[in-house]
Amino acid sequence: RSWLTDEVRAQARRTGTVHVPALHRALAERGWLAASAPGERAARDPFELGALFRELELADAPYHGIGTTMIVAGVLDQLGSPALRAEVLPRLLAGEATAVLGYSEPGAGSDVASARTRAVPVDDARSAWRIDGQKMWTTLAHTAAHCLLLTRTNPDVPKHRGLTMFLVPMDTPGITIQPIHTIADERTNVVFYDDVIVPDSCRIGEVDGGWRVMAVGLSLERGVMGSTAMLEPLLAAVTAWARVPGPAGSWLDGERPGDDPAVLTAIARARADAEAAFLLTQWTAWLNVAGQSPAVAGTIAKLFASTAYQRASRELQDVAGLGGILRASATGGVVASAADGEIERAARHSCVVTIQGGTTEIARNLVAEQRLGLPKTRQGTRSQA
Ligand SMILES: Cc1cc2nc3c(=O)[nH]c(=O)nc-3n(C[C@H](O)[C@H](O)[C@H](O)COP(=O)(O)OP(=O)(O)OC[C@H]3O[C@@H](n4cnc5c(N)ncnc54)[C@H](O)[C@@H]3O)c2cc1C
Repeated sequence: RSWLTDEVRAQARRTGTVHVPALHRALAERGWLAASAPGERAARDPFELGALFRELELADAPYHGIGTTMIVAGVLDQLGSPALRAEVLPRLLAGEATAVLGYSEPGAGSDVASARTRAVPVDDARSAWRIDGQKMWTTLAHTAAHCLLLTRTNPDVPKHRGLTMFLVPMDTPGITIQPIHTIADERTNVVFYDDVIVPDSCRIGEVDGGWRVMAVGLSLERGVMGSTAMLEPLLAAVTAWARVPGPAGSWLDGERPGDDPAVLTAIARARADAEAAFLLTQWTAWLNVAGQSPAVAGTIAKLFASTAYQRASRELQDVAGLGGILRASATGGVVASAADGEIERAARHSCVVTIQGGTTEIARNLVAEQRLGLPKTRQGTRSQA
């Protein structure tokens, strides 16, 4: 299909914009963007939702915009006012508009409840709000029509109780977007909000009730919607690489990388980890279907998958020798990049995956506290959403 070719994948890596409008619209036409919205006729159960994101990951599809839009659609469907739902949801589900997540700030990432971006009512009737502040890491802000924005509406109460969520149109005057290019070939953004006026109809949930909205968004993000099958495209690349003899005169000298037991061990371990990550995702879906909270299971799946991905890329770099640290674009030397640079790329990409959507340390805290009942490490981290 023209919307998911090697060139499309390469372009996403070149630009860092992990979003393909044509692919997005193709899924919308098939009704898949409604899969995360329980109130819609095209809603899917968590196993089907998980299957969609697994297929996207297996195909190495640039799917970030699909993920964030579906998270916001799910939040809007569950907690948006009837008027906001009627205005925005059909456009999101039709693939005409995308939405992104504006939670993190320079001083509030893991401790996201410390958000300081202020929203102040412009009049006593709270007919509109003035928003001022700065958000960090708003991935795909430069392509989005809407941002799910976490703001502080009350600085005089415990921090979780003074937050309010808005769905802000990104073409509102006063919004400035600057790119941040990460080591993972992924672009994200810093977004400034200066005197941004939005009507009260953009609010989602109660005034000072933003933490509840946040919890719904995070449970979707850490459920079955991606970031648990990153090993699969890497495995496809290294398995193909391991089968092909290296050129005569190179360090492989006619041998296949897979003739080295250390290479086989690293690949086999990664394969086993990929299977375990899949089962953990299925377990998350099962808890959801069974009416139990999938939050901790989803965190365990993301924690396991992201750290296994990082471990595998490092082990593969060790066994692939110099080729393991060369980029696909490295030419002219005596050593070629191993697996077309996919091992080197995974080593960079896996670092970022262990941070976005909540860090490895925060995930471990959550598992220790909420699964094992161990004492709380620190008040007020993302782990308590
Ligand atoms: C590529 C990328 C894309 C992102 N996309 C988005 C997005 O679209 N929207 C959005 O809102 N955010 C996004 N994020 C932000 C992401 O969620 C945060 O980076 C993450 O939650 C960590 O926050 P921080 O960067 O402020 O680090 P900090 O919270 O400052 O953490 C720094 C270090 O301290 C550790 N640490 C912090 N608190 C604790 C604790 N209590 N116990 C143990 N260790 C702790 C962390 O694990 C980390 O190693 C993105 C991040 C990246 C890198």
